[in-house]
Amino acid sequence: MSSKVLDEFLNENIADLKDRGLYNEIDPVEGANGPKIQIDGKELINLSSNNYLGLSTDDRLKKIAKQAVDTHGVGAGAVRTINGTLDLHIELEKRLAEFKGTEAVISYQSGFNCNMAAISAVMDKNDAILSDQLNHASIIDGCRLSKAKIIPFNHSDMDDLRKKAKEAVESGQYNKIMVITDGVFSMDGDVANLPEIVEIAEEFDLITYVDDAHGSGVLGKGAGTVKHFGLQDKIDFQMGTLSKAIGVIGGYVAGKANLIDWLKVRSRPFLFSTAVSPADAAASKRAIEILMESTELHDRLWENGNYLKEGLKKLGFDIGDSETPITPCIIGDEKDAQQFSKRLYEEGVYAKSIVFPTVPRGTGRVRNMPTAAHTKEMLDEAIAAYEKVGKEMGLI
Ligand SMILES: *Cc1c(COP(=O)(O)O)cnc(C)c1O
Repeated sequence: MSSKVLDEFLNENIADLKDRGLYNEIDPVEGANGPKIQIDGKELINLSSNNYLGLSTDDRLKKIAKQAVDTHGVGAGAVRTINGTLDLHIELEKRLAEFKGTEAVISYQSGFNCNMAAISAVMDKNDAILSDQLNHASIIDGCRLSKAKIIPFNHSDMDDLRKKAKEAVESGQYNKIMVITDGVFSMDGDVANLPEIVEIAEEFDLITYVDDAHGSGVLGKGAGTVKHFGLQDKIDFQMGTLSKAIGVIGGYVAGKANLIDWLKVRSRPFLFSTAVSPADAAASKRAIEILMESTELHDRLWENGNYLKEGLKKLGFDIGDSETPITPCIIGDEKDAQQFSKRLYEEGVYAKSIVFPTVPRGTGRVRNMPTAAHTKEMLDEAIAAYEKVGKEMGLI
């Protein structure tokens, strides 16, 4: 017998979300998540993945993943601290440290896990965390888990950050204070003002933490937002994911050796959850090597991003102020944004709408994630669909 209370809770809330048009139906992709995808038998140009460099379907990575299955099996077999640390994990971490230009790296099962793991391993109830108002959900959850006082500051507002850092220090209430930010904000494609954040951190002795999920592989010739600004020795925690530009699965924190040593003995997902599989570790390591060997994929990503941006701008769309290949197309009204995305789908383009509460009310948008794997022809087709739907809906 199932719980009546639970059934009531679930049925009421699901019905409510459906009523308000906020219930997200998931579209399963039939086959690989490449530049073109198939959904429900329909072929679509894919502008919604985070597979920035096209690595999730790269032949070199597929090959090395298969080899790792043959030599190491399909599972790591244990948590990292018992005997789940394979030579492949160590090699991956070594390569990542070289790539990021830090003393050491610890890898985790996902980027989300990194934020659960690393923040609460260092911060506790006697501490405070200054957190950008638009930070990712995993940062918010990681901060909550630490029980530190969370002090949000206005998005990328350095005066607000400075003021709140000063208040926190002067209150004398906190042992340690951290400032935490996304490197690249994925809804608008804007970049955190790390030089000024570092300046404020130095002034008030703040611990610095950058979540570079969308910056790794994209900025700093691939090495991320911190490298982009040349601040490798000024940021305490550089968190990154292996699941977006790197194309596989997993996450990592790069930093000084003493920080990584501490995370290995104190971060709970490392201690109590099984490591990523041999194939994942081997493929991630190879992906990092590909990025270190050549900027070809990175350059193509930027070229494609700029091409799509130019195309949409010329048509008269508002594409915001993105500083990365992420290309929002701001429609405004929530219902229009959803309708726009639906019509694009019918025209063979998969670009998701993003509306309130994920973005501010009245800034409903269709967000495009061009990748290195798209061809000019695919982007031209997408731009033609935008033109057709934009004119049809009277938006351009
Ligand atoms: C996607 C994302 C994560 C989570 O990374 P996963 O590897 O997918 O778990 C964390 N932070 C930010 C900013 C992200 O965009």
